[in-house]
Amino acid sequence: MENEWKQTLERVEKRLNNARAYDIWIKPVKFKERNGNTVKIEIPGMTFEKGFLPFLAVIKEEFEKIYGWQPDIELFYSGEVADKAAAIFNESPLNPGYTFDNFVVGSNNQLAHAAAQAVSQSPGIAYNPLFLYGGFGLGKTHLMQAIVQSVKEREETKIIYIPAEVYLNDFIQSIKNKTTNLFRQKFRKLDFLLIDDIHFIAGKEGTQEEFFHMFNFLYDQRKQIILSSDRPPAEISFLEKRLISRFEWGLVAEILPPDFETRVAILKKKCEIKNINVNDDIIFYIAENIKDNVRILEGVLNRIFAFSSLLNKEIDKTIIDEIMDGEYYKKRVIINLETIMAFVCEYFKIKEEDLLSKTRMKNILMPRQIAMFLSRELTNNSLHSIAVKFGGKDHTTILYACKKIKKLYDTDEYIKGVVDEIRKSIEK
Ligand code: ADP
Ligand code: MG
Repeated sequence: MENEWKQTLERVEKRLNNARAYDIWIKPVKFKERNGNTVKIEIPGMTFEKGFLPFLAVIKEEFEKIYGWQPDIELFYSGEVADKAAAIFNESPLNPGYTFDNFVVGSNNQLAHAAAQAVSQSPGIAYNPLFLYGGFGLGKTHLMQAIVQSVKEREETKIIYIPAEVYLNDFIQSIKNKTTNLFRQKFRKLDFLLIDDIHFIAGKEGTQEEFFHMFNFLYDQRKQIILSSDRPPAEISFLEKRLISRFEWGLVAEILPPDFETRVAILKKKCEIKNINVNDDIIFYIAENIKDNVRILEGVLNRIFAFSSLLNKEIDKTIIDEIMDGEYYKKRVIINLETIMAFVCEYFKIKEEDLLSKTRMKNILMPRQIAMFLSRELTNNSLHSIAVKFGGKDHTTILYACKKIKKLYDTDEYIKGVVDEIRKSIEK
């Protein structure tokens, strides 16, 4: 086989007709072994992998021209550089401002902050996994990246911070490229793993499966795992039960919206970091008006700064009011109730009027209850506003529907299938 591989590469070399590219991207690749129609090859590392992948198709094609079939190609990092690859992997972009020093501790986040410090000091012992949860813009990402930066400052460890979305995409990419074993190797070498917004993998079966095994592997070796989400494990819909239970093994810490004093302290801290002067009056005014989200708090401060310094405008309360409204509008509504209703109607081939009506015919009632359930699960709408949207029903109707569908979802394969399918089409 080694010979066949050589011949393939000779053809690739001719076809590329670019000695430089060949020397850089093809030459360092070493044939390892063939197993059935799978060919294992060794490459130097992860940076190399990115440049090399575009050539994979050419190699397969040239191979096919000689031997009449396309091999599956599996990539491995060569041993001596594998660690270097992990080191490259470490450098996921972090915000340098997200440090413990810049994090304001209040009663809303005291436990999460203390736990974050504890795990960065004694990983794998104190709380494993550490599960941080709380609403949008309350400092979860800040705290996670603070852990990474403080650990890195102190010692050489293999630590990765990765948003769940990136984890998911990397995993899918590795399936496409037949490099799942590389993907696995990368993660299993870690001392610390931080995955942000873990709820993102809920409902994605393959990724959950992969993550489950990785979790067990790291956990068994007492490696520190830190996760974040917008809600506690048990409330993450479409998350496998075995994952929920594992997430609860360690410490689950909630981050609440900051109280007034903490909001003032955060605003002052941000001014200090940016080295700008803002009157206490204005700081109090912002802190009084924006209560549930530090990100918006910060956004308002930045806009005020831009107004006063760039436009040279006097800041008064009217301007601040305008800025505050504007920042709230920026909150994206990704999935709304209309979308959910439309998809449910489309799936069951019923009319929206039916969904809003009072009829209890089974072929309408079930879709309606599924729509209510999805509205609750996929959006931040309150029971009340969902009830209003569904033709002015009582909020207990919504609650009942949610409980019922949730139960069916867990016990009835058919309902699970239907709900999953609708949800997937909505989330696309
Ligand atoms: P989340 O990940 O929970 O959505 P982030 O960590 O992205 O929120 O925080 C949003 C913004 O608010 C960031 O700029 C962060 O620095 C800031 N922030 C949140 N909580 C605090 C805090 N306690 N002290 C200082 N800044 C904070
Ligand atoms: Mg975040």
